[in-house]
Amino acid sequence: MAKRDYYEVIGVARTATKDEIKKAYRKVAMKYHPDRNPGNPETEELFKEAAEAYEVLGDDEKRQRYDRFGHEGLKSTFGNGGFQWSDFHHASEMEDVFGGLFSAFFGGGNPFGGGGGRGGPRGRDIRIRYPLTLEEAFAGKAAKVTFERREPCETCGGTGAAPGSSPERCSRCGGSGAVRLSRGFFSVQTTCEACGGAGTVITKPCPDCGGEALIGKKVEVSFDIPPGVDDGMSLRLRGEGEAAQGSGSTRGDLYVGFQVREHDVFTREGTNIILEMPISFTQSALGAELTVPTLHGDQTVQIPPGTQSHTVFRLRGKGMPAGDGSYGDQYLRTVVVTPRKLNDRQRELLRELAAESKEDYHAYRKKSFFQKLRDTILDVGG
Ligand SMILES: [Zn+2]
Ligand SMILES: [Zn+2]
Repeated sequence: MAKRDYYEVIGVARTATKDEIKKAYRKVAMKYHPDRNPGNPETEELFKEAAEAYEVLGDDEKRQRYDRFGHEGLKSTFGNGGFQWSDFHHASEMEDVFGGLFSAFFGGGNPFGGGGGRGGPRGRDIRIRYPLTLEEAFAGKAAKVTFERREPCETCGGTGAAPGSSPERCSRCGGSGAVRLSRGFFSVQTTCEACGGAGTVITKPCPDCGGEALIGKKVEVSFDIPPGVDDGMSLRLRGEGEAAQGSGSTRGDLYVGFQVREHDVFTREGTNIILEMPISFTQSALGAELTVPTLHGDQTVQIPPGTQSHTVFRLRGKGMPAGDGSYGDQYLRTVVVTPRKLNDRQRELLRELAAESKEDYHAYRKKSFFQKLRDTILDVGG
């Protein structure tokens, strides 16, 4: 299978600028992202191919070498196994593609979760859900999670061999962990099946881990939740995932996915907070000073006489932290509550009020629906 031209993979001209290459790569990466194509090995391959192309074309020095010598020019860069995810250096600048853009954590498909770069095997990623209240999401907090992950076995010191015995060199691969297989004209190198690539075999397995070298252990991990996290966001804690077996192995990552619970009175929309505030019809008619709850503490709000139901007041900067030091707003929506029960005196006063106002309910009834609607909508400034 001939290797495709990197410019073709990303879909740009050979004369493309760095910026054009970056934009084009982004498009391709988003199209083939594993989260968008779950369980599809074909798009996964294309996703990786695009990353390889960008790793080269996005780097002046590598691009120059590729332009002069083609794929041959990058043999030393990517090593024998060819490009691996561990060779990719642009994950941080593509954070939205590789991090949070799609289902980021619960959907799986972390492109770096596959393990097995040149650095040795990589432990599995772990995903944990972390429920929190809106108040906690507002303020942020120091948090702890307890979970089980595979750790190097202490009994055998992570070798998998029973104490007193030691792993022996694999006779199949001679200790290299890899064997060459001939397929027609080609000779391909694959992981040795006898030792699983470790280069050694265990003759007497450790009684505690059964030769696995790893053992499940309960661990506690602490981290800080930044103020303002939203439902569905995740925090990546590098190296807090599972350990892997073998020399040069690295740990997976821990992804903490936040689930912000619904609040009794506040509704959140991004960084803004919406609060429905019941007011009495005398408050609505006469105006009132209201004590309004916000996440920043109670606020005094003066509503003017004649405030209608569903009038919206904005309390600037009283919303959620936006992450850059600023805050969203809180929107206060009045809901006029009509009393259900009246005593004789109240009823009498209201009749007097009606008489005084010369209210003509008959005339009101005759108004068109839209006329009535217009009467109840008031535009309010921010
Ligand atoms: Zn052990
Ligand atoms: Zn072997």
